[in-house]
Amino acid sequence: MYCKNCGSEIDDNAMVCPYCGVMTDKANGQLASQKSGSNAIAIVGFILSFFFWIPGLICSIVGLKNAPQYGGKGKGLAIAGIVLSVLSGVFVIFYVALSIVKGGTNMFLY
Ligand SMILES: [Zn+2]
Repeated sequence: MYCKNCGSEIDDNAMVCPYCGVMTDKANGQLASQKSGSNAIAIVGFILSFFFWIPGLICSIVGLKNAPQYGGKGKGLAIAGIVLSVLSGVFVIFYVALSIVKGGTNMFLY
């Protein structure tokens, strides 16, 4: 790419122009992608994991992936959400398997 300040040809991955010291578009783009605020998806994932483990797990994984963009915010929450939703998932599968073994719908007849 070319420096927008002095027009010199510089490395595509350069953050600063080596000729004039001005920040490149890449550096500006990286600053812009640093989102402010909280990692909402990690919070949503954590809450969802209590009630719906599959969307909770998905949101928590996305939240964990997005955490670096928020300066690591929500990382702990996302991990907690993943653990919780995996646990509820295991519980649900265990419960369903148990009711199948016990004869499933029969228990509603008594
Ligand atoms: Zn330059």
